[in-house]
Amino acid sequence: MEVVAAGLHHLTAVTADPRANVRFYTRVLGLRLVKRTVNFDDPSAYHLYFGDAAGTPGTLLTFFHWAGAGRGRIGAGQVAGIQLSAPDDSLEFWAERLRVAGASVTTGSRFGAPLLLTLDPDGIPVEILAGREDPRPGWTSADVSPPHQLRGMAGAELRVRDAGRTSQVLQELLGWREVAAEAGRRRLVAGQGQPGYWLDLVGDPAGQPGRPGTGTVHHLALRTADAPSSEMLRARLQAAGAAPSPLIDRTYFRSVYFREPGGILLELATDGPGFLVDETPETLGARLMLPPAFEPARAAISAALPSLAA
Ligand code: ZN
Repeated sequence: MEVVAAGLHHLTAVTADPRANVRFYTRVLGLRLVKRTVNFDDPSAYHLYFGDAAGTPGTLLTFFHWAGAGRGRIGAGQVAGIQLSAPDDSLEFWAERLRVAGASVTTGSRFGAPLLLTLDPDGIPVEILAGREDPRPGWTSADVSPPHQLRGMAGAELRVRDAGRTSQVLQELLGWREVAAEAGRRRLVAGQGQPGYWLDLVGDPAGQPGRPGTGTVHHLALRTADAPSSEMLRARLQAAGAAPSPLIDRTYFRSVYFREPGGILLELATDGPGFLVDETPETLGARLMLPPAFEPARAAISAALPSLAA
């Protein structure tokens, strides 16, 4: 079988306020906090993961807390926001819920499907899209009951100066397919093109480059089946001159990082081993989890992190 990076695994963004971040993604959007850990490259910063009950790839939004970072600016060479999938007839529910929570709400449509646009507490655009059948169950929380719970990521919007070059890499090296175009936007899909398996490339030839910081997306991860698949894709990227990182153990998945031609940091993340390697399904996200190298410093790391209590 041909090896491809089939579908979205997670998206990682940067927050200035982890407490407001947790409140918005759990209490307002009804996602589950499936892992509270630290940035494995900088244990002074939270790394928070939200998703469905088990943290299934394709449902995961993750956030670094960069306390000292300035506010970023979304622009060319970045993922431009978050897209979440909602049941078909739930947009009115979500519009009302967001307004009650004090969030802005505008409406629109994309490739014929209706959507809502809001902003998270850091100003990151969050789109809630309906109109596509999505059999994923989502997370049934006390805050959002069936049938309205969000199902996971729908897609992601990549803003680049030259969408053609980015599209070429995704198609020729990672196995995606360009299937539609609309108003400066190209849609690429993997698998059957269901929610969680599409990317929108927005070409902005004169666009200002984005600036990293809070309120921006740090990187986007695509799924691979396992480590050998990632290694094969890594070799393919290397042969094409893309300078991928080595395969890195991220405890919950194995990762390869590279920049696509438009400058966006992409990751290839394995589906396994998943979020149950160090917690039970019942206790996911309840406790600060640290990789073994940081365990001896748990007390100091924990004391330096801000409280997440609402
Ligand atoms: Zn990642």
